[in-house]
Amino acid sequence: MRQIAILLFILLMAGCTPQTQRVDIMADDEQAAAPAPTPEPTPAPYVTEDIFVVEAEEAINLRAKSSSSSELLDTLKPGDRVRVLGYQSQRFAKVRRLSDNLEGYAIAGYLKAEDYGAFGLTVVQPVALYSYEQMMADLAALAGAYPGLCTLESAGTSAEGRELQVLLVGDAASRHHVFVQAAIHAREHMTALLTTAMAERLLQQGGAADVCFHILPMANPDGVTIQQNETIPAGIAGIYTNDGVKGLSVETGALYLEQWQANANGVDLNRNFDAMWDKINTTADASFMNYRGAAPGSEPETKAMVAYTERYAFDATLSYHATGSAIYWEFGQDTAVNAASLSMAEAIKGVSAYELIGDKGGSYGGYKDWAMLQKKIPSVTIEVGTRPAPLMEAEFSNLWFRNRDVLQAVAAWVQGR
Ligand SMILES: [Zn+2]
Repeated sequence: MRQIAILLFILLMAGCTPQTQRVDIMADDEQAAAPAPTPEPTPAPYVTEDIFVVEAEEAINLRAKSSSSSELLDTLKPGDRVRVLGYQSQRFAKVRRLSDNLEGYAIAGYLKAEDYGAFGLTVVQPVALYSYEQMMADLAALAGAYPGLCTLESAGTSAEGRELQVLLVGDAASRHHVFVQAAIHAREHMTALLTTAMAERLLQQGGAADVCFHILPMANPDGVTIQQNETIPAGIAGIYTNDGVKGLSVETGALYLEQWQANANGVDLNRNFDAMWDKINTTADASFMNYRGAAPGSEPETKAMVAYTERYAFDATLSYHATGSAIYWEFGQDTAVNAASLSMAEAIKGVSAYELIGDKGGSYGGYKDWAMLQKKIPSVTIEVGTRPAPLMEAEFSNLWFRNRDVLQAVAAWVQGR
């Protein structure tokens, strides 16, 4: 009614509308305007009103803006309860402290959801150390719970004989195919937990029309198993000694293992693909990280991923890594592949609020690099998390809220191509 009154006022002031016509306008407005209140804006998927608890050894900063150089408003103490009002482009979440409603920005990785029940997951459960055995059990449970919607398939076996287990969500005869791989770097095993959880959510939603997702949650199962040991396994004792002698790692024992990225042969699998491999100029020996291997594709895991990628006509690939809270979309000189990858990255940004980063050079031999360069498949690397890997359990909360709708966003992007 207020809008109508304003409209009448304007018409009267304009002095150009006869009395009778004004009544007609009013009658029309009465019919048309009543059911048209301004709709509530749809919140972005990464906006959540769930309650989180600060999980840190000491108080963390609450800042005026999403930048570590912005004004310090106060600190949040361990155990403080906050609402997370949404995620920002990089590491920050906007929060409101429940005790006094003070709002500001805090590093998202210290905020743990108070109740994992809000995630809606029944098979996959958040943990700090997601093991190969747990991943295999979860994939089998998902295949059992959704027999018409998904199937298990092996992409091959690792150096130590573990399965490179792929879960197909959707029909293998679908028009579109998307490959998702995670935990190719051992200490980034929380990405295996994340992608398995994302698979469960996609299954709960009945999958995506015309799109089959091929999800390999743990591309480096031997490395993950080594990384989760508490004492140095015999198989890598020589590498451990050599890394110490060469000063490549100053850590010892379990702290050394925490940093492990490579496979069981001490090869960094994400430096082992045939994508400007010659340019990789890091260490010349097997090591906990960065060794490219004796030749491109020298490792059984690399060979298996190459063969699997060639088995299907993939429309897109996603590689999950930690840490960084960003999407890398560029590699090589093919403008069409780069443009398509950027377009997909923008679709993912729409549901995750992650920052987009182009190729700054200096990194070669990765799976995404190879898929773009040699196979011309639009591809992105999604770096998740706010603190150095291995990520703490609390990080899973922000990983979940920022990535839970990524597969549906990619499905929509692929369907629209
Ligand atoms: Zn990585």
